[in-house]
Amino acid sequence: MDNKKLADLLFPDVVNTPEYYEEKYPYRKLPSKAQVTRMAPSPTGFIHLGNLYSALADERIAHKKNGVFYLRIEDTDEKRKVDGAVETIINVLRYFNIEFDEGAGFDENAENNKYGPYFQQQRVDIYHAYVKRLVEKGLAYPCFCTEEELEKVRQKQDAKKILTGYYGEYATCRNMSYEEVFANIKAGKEYVIRLRSQGSPDKEITFKDCIKGEIKLPENIHDIVLLKKDGVPTYHFAHAIDDHLMRTTMVIRGGEWLASVPIHYELFNILGFKMPEYGHTAHLMKFDEETGGKRKLSKRKDPELSLDYYRKDGYHPYCMKVYLLTLLNSNFEEWHEKFPDKDINDFPFSVDKMSQSGALFDKDKLHNICKNELSCLSEYEMYNFLHEWAVEHEPEKCDIWFADKEKMLGILRLYMGIGMKRRRKDFIYARQIFELIAYFFDMEDGQKERDKLGNQTIDKKTVHNILKEYLATYNHDDDNSAWFNKLKAIADKFGFASDMKAYKKEPEKYNGNVSDIAEIVRIAVTGRANTPDLWQIVHIMGQEQMTERITAAIEV
Ligand code: GLU
Repeated sequence: MDNKKLADLLFPDVVNTPEYYEEKYPYRKLPSKAQVTRMAPSPTGFIHLGNLYSALADERIAHKKNGVFYLRIEDTDEKRKVDGAVETIINVLRYFNIEFDEGAGFDENAENNKYGPYFQQQRVDIYHAYVKRLVEKGLAYPCFCTEEELEKVRQKQDAKKILTGYYGEYATCRNMSYEEVFANIKAGKEYVIRLRSQGSPDKEITFKDCIKGEIKLPENIHDIVLLKKDGVPTYHFAHAIDDHLMRTTMVIRGGEWLASVPIHYELFNILGFKMPEYGHTAHLMKFDEETGGKRKLSKRKDPELSLDYYRKDGYHPYCMKVYLLTLLNSNFEEWHEKFPDKDINDFPFSVDKMSQSGALFDKDKLHNICKNELSCLSEYEMYNFLHEWAVEHEPEKCDIWFADKEKMLGILRLYMGIGMKRRRKDFIYARQIFELIAYFFDMEDGQKERDKLGNQTIDKKTVHNILKEYLATYNHDDDNSAWFNKLKAIADKFGFASDMKAYKKEPEKYNGNVSDIAEIVRIAVTGRANTPDLWQIVHIMGQEQMTERITAAIEV
């Protein structure tokens, strides 16, 4: 068959050649060892923790050696497109302090944006130039098979228990004559363009995955679709052309693509392209309480896979980044502990330290990281972080919480242990923080606990009398120790030991000890059994609020 004639028949309007594009997108001039990486999402507007995990690896690989990290939008599937998805992707990554250097979302004419367009829908001419060349070389051909015909072949193969798909003798359009193709096209029959695979079923490819190491897989033998009926390419074909022309050097992508490597290997080969390095990331796994084993995080079952989950509850993006780095590189944690003051971007990130099997997502670990990292912030940084979160997620309460800046700063200093010998580590994420300190702003918060006072060993009447005595002897000008001495006096008066040593010797002689008195006052004031220093709490909230809350405990 005259392949040149066939190519002209199929692609009469293609004007540019592959050579034209090769010249238009020259190899990038970059420092040695610099890598070009990319994130290539479909514009569904949904990114989950797994995507962020891969994106952070890509970004670190590019940026640690002055390479390039760009954003390409794989929008060949119309059905999955969502408006505003590109902005969402950029903003979500920006929230986690991950920035692109070029690509979708950047000014098209900008000096550093020369490898575009970065939307696959806008690159259809480019793909056609390359497919046309493959047709000319006899490496691609049109296929007119209908869905029903393909289904029949599949059933036949199933019945014979052999590999299903369009390959070898089952690839019925492979050897169609020019005249037949011509007649089909004139008759208006729809067609796709398929690869004429050169693979052989008894051969293997060997390639080095930069995360998983050497991998052997059977050669591709399928005549896969390169262009769909509407002329738009499939993922496999588009990604090969794009990563080549955008001069990507390293592709870090989800592990689900590993099985497609033989196809990509063949595509790069027949197109005459050098393959980028590939690294297939491990799945994020979680401990499954039902089975006691590990399982993949699932979109359906695990809300913690969605990034919204972390934003809604106000996880600090820096903590998330530290956590992801901990998951990504096994030596990060040790490095971070050793150099706590170094910028985490200075960590010598390396692909060989990436987890090969599943990376275990562990909420307790994340919370520990949050506690540690947040305890390193100043009260002002914490204030700004909480304020920003509250404006977006709790706009109604925000005005109340932030009405008095000094009060909020005082609460943060107290809860973070600023000025103390050791920082406290009570804070995990914004919503949890506001739950901890809610009693400062909301009279109702803690009322349940107040109501419970006097239900256990100490009866209600005694509790009320203790609280009345507390209010009667209270002086807002007392310092911490004068205030505590008054608690001791109350203890003595009600038959509680004011001296702990004496109490420990003969506990049966007392109704309890001074810490029981402190607990009653603490619960009355805060609605909580555990808080930082109560005297300081009382002095941040002021006498009026304190009295109001204690009165509410007496008047149940
Ligand atoms: N569009 C593909 C995806 O979202 C990209 C895979 C790749 O990075 O090559 O999964």
